[in-house]
Amino acid sequence: MADDEIIYLDNNATTQLDPAVVEEMMPFLTKYYGNPSSGYGFAAKARKAVDLARERLAALLGCESPEIVFTSGGTESNNTAIASSLQFEPRGKHVVTSAVEHSAVLRPCQDLTKRGCEVAFLAVDRDGNVDLDELEAAILPETALVSMMWANNETGVLFPVAKIAEVCREKGVLFHTDAVQAAGKIPMRVRDTAINFLSLSAHKFHGPKGIGALYVSRRTRFRPLIAGGGQENERRGGTENVASIVGLGKAAEAASEYLSEGKAHVRSMRDRFEKAVLEAVSGAAVNGAGVARIPNTSSFSFEGIESPAALLLLDRYRICCSAGSACRTGSQEASHVLRAMDPSGDGARRSLRFSFGRFNTDAQVDRAIEVVPKVIEKLRQIAAPARGSAVSPLATAP
Ligand SMILES: *Cc1c(COP(=O)(O)O)cnc(C)c1O
Repeated sequence: MADDEIIYLDNNATTQLDPAVVEEMMPFLTKYYGNPSSGYGFAAKARKAVDLARERLAALLGCESPEIVFTSGGTESNNTAIASSLQFEPRGKHVVTSAVEHSAVLRPCQDLTKRGCEVAFLAVDRDGNVDLDELEAAILPETALVSMMWANNETGVLFPVAKIAEVCREKGVLFHTDAVQAAGKIPMRVRDTAINFLSLSAHKFHGPKGIGALYVSRRTRFRPLIAGGGQENERRGGTENVASIVGLGKAAEAASEYLSEGKAHVRSMRDRFEKAVLEAVSGAAVNGAGVARIPNTSSFSFEGIESPAALLLLDRYRICCSAGSACRTGSQEASHVLRAMDPSGDGARRSLRFSFGRFNTDAQVDRAIEVVPKVIEKLRQIAAPARGSAVSPLATAP
């Protein structure tokens, strides 16, 4: 690989567009610009393309295509599910969620508390797991909604959402899952579950930014967040973002293929990287190591480093990764996810997240395995020079 090549290991922040996705989108940015709602044949091109994208996404999720509402992304989908549940639910004003949700769930939930709605933010254990008994006990007679993410964006830890949905169904409570990090990465058959709402976003699985979807099961009453024209079967107003919807559909098809063919290159790159770093670096630990995780994410805590300094040094080697989530970069606050997993420790300030994708190569993983231990060692030497050797391991740094 070329010396100046970027090694992009931040696929949970966003992903490279699949070239096949770009190719399918292009005609809808140039030739077929008709409004899907128009009556003439020219617009039917766009309408049919939107229908096909809906079918492809339904195939990825294992649901029916009328259960899919296209949105502007994961954030809008989450906000829509939460708002719809509360507007409709006569039972009352109580929501259960977890302390480790993405800000696109946490913030709307925090806003609810200012409007007289109580929210329970469930704690997690050291591995990032929720206790199902605790969850069940948190559901009150007036609970309108339980919202728990499928896969955590910082650690990759999977919540047992099928089981949680079952508990909610038994109690007659709506269940939403933020599946932005799970969609396209693990097989799903949403029709076999009691999930009412599921959010996803195209740019997390090699589709374009600014487009996503909300799955609304056919047995769930729904109220739109965005009122306007009757688009999306009266469920989301606004002229359809046709090219992006086409891109989302193509990305869903590619992800379905990868999953149904049982491909595991992403998992094998992640596993090889994780094992090599654990072997080469003392005082390194994988966050969530003891529980089920999505196959692309490695979240480490390293003794004797500070994440911001590590990110700067890794950037000099053109390795893109993050401390906690991308949304937190630039803020001084350590990850709320890792703090929730270890409230008394300082692991959150010593953490780095590496997330892999289909477009990473084995050569890039080799390079990361070479650089990351060197960088950690260098940072420790700076922090405690007396302990280090005379020769800088970064003597050959760019
Ligand atoms: C990225 C992400 C979101 C936000 O999705 P956007 O499409 O960027 O709005 C929400 N939840 C999780 C878990 C995410 O990783």
